[in-house]
Amino acid sequence: MSEIKRVGVIGSGQMGGGIAQVAAVSGFETVVMDTSADQVALCEKTHDKLLARAVEKGKMSEDDAKAAKGRLTYVTDIKSLADSDIVVEAVVENAEVKKSIFKQLAGMLTGDQILASNTSSISITEIAAATDCPERVIGMHFFYPVPVMKLVEVINGLATDANVTERVIKLAGDMGKTAVPANDRAGFVSNRVLMPMINEAFYAWMEGVAEPEHLDQIMKLGCNHPMGPLELADFIGLDTCAHIMNVLADGLHSERYRPCPKLEQLVVAGRFGRKSGHGVFKY
Ligand code: NAD
Repeated sequence: MSEIKRVGVIGSGQMGGGIAQVAAVSGFETVVMDTSADQVALCEKTHDKLLARAVEKGKMSEDDAKAAKGRLTYVTDIKSLADSDIVVEAVVENAEVKKSIFKQLAGMLTGDQILASNTSSISITEIAAATDCPERVIGMHFFYPVPVMKLVEVINGLATDANVTERVIKLAGDMGKTAVPANDRAGFVSNRVLMPMINEAFYAWMEGVAEPEHLDQIMKLGCNHPMGPLELADFIGLDTCAHIMNVLADGLHSERYRPCPKLEQLVVAGRFGRKSGHGVFKY
């Protein structure tokens, strides 16, 4: 079993960019791939800015930042990932796009390399079924913002080999994260438990149980949550919350997981949360 030295990342957006940065800072040769030169250039610019900021704040020496940057390569051709020991896919949350990428990866990486997905809701078993090596496919679910958030939820598909899980847990640890395993069921653990709570907060608001500020205050002070559920929903994106509720409803075959009408109403009004300047609250 080869040691993981080279990490490939597909998708250089919010999550892929963060995963690549953490991998490089942790000492891994890292190749990050996206479909356009403009997108990878944007990712490189973000890395330069974030590494410079870490140096300014005294969190990293200038030499370490330079070394991390030296370990990063930006590419637009998936074939450049052929000598990776693991590839972490972080492209758009679309099952067909992910399956086509995994099929390509399986054809390219024919040894004991690991094929991981950062999906937050798509079944790992389904992605793995698009390949001829489902035992090497696993979920590696990082959280946003990746350099800050400690958790990696490691999702085993139906056929994931125990050695693959073990290597991914070690890799997450080497990246300064804590890996916790979960099995492949809609929403895994994090979204399965969090999203219904957020959805319930929308119901409580809709039914006039409390004003949004009061609802959040009660959950912060009474349950010791760092952020109220409605503020958190704005942070995640209300469209994303509604989408994940529908994934839970479909995957768990229960209408009780459908998005609250109040949540759906804000989404159709274009109130997506922080990213659109207005969600439950105004920004
Ligand atoms: P994003 O839109 O910021 O980035 C996606 C990137 O993928 C874009 O740069 C896009 O150009 C690229 N891309 C699309 N198709 C591609 C292809 N065929 N090949 C290579 N690159 C391609 O999205 P994101 O927020 O980084 O989310 C990425 C994944 O991470 C999704 O599966 C999402 O569910 C998951 N995720 C997101 C969060 C979050 O909070 N944003 C948290 C955990 C997991």
